[in-house]
Amino acid sequence: MSCGGYIKTWTSWTDLNLGRRFEACEISRRNRGNRHHWEWLDASTCARGKELIPGLLRIMRAMEDDLKLIEEQKKEVEDKLKMVDREKKELEYKVGELGKQKRIGQ
Ligand SMILES: [Zn+2]
Repeated sequence: MSCGGYIKTWTSWTDLNLGRRFEACEISRRNRGNRHHWEWLDASTCARGKELIPGLLRIMRAMEDDLKLIEEQKKEVEDKLKMVDREKKELEYKVGELGKQKRIGQ
């Protein structure tokens, strides 16, 4: 049984098979029931690895979420800084105009 699809090497990202490579065609890759071609290339993760990986993934994802939040906050601060800078330039301009008026008035 072949779907005619090209067989490639993929990497699994599931908790229990993290980083484990397998060989499959495009269709079998997502649906093992296709039965065309699907085969692990790497040995299965050891019991200790299976125990550790889900926890490590949780920590990694939490750190990624934190990083996203920090980047959003950074953007907000940068936007505020731009606004303050614009206000500063406006005030500098006004001060300049007032200085001119003062000189004219003298
Ligand atoms: Zn196939």
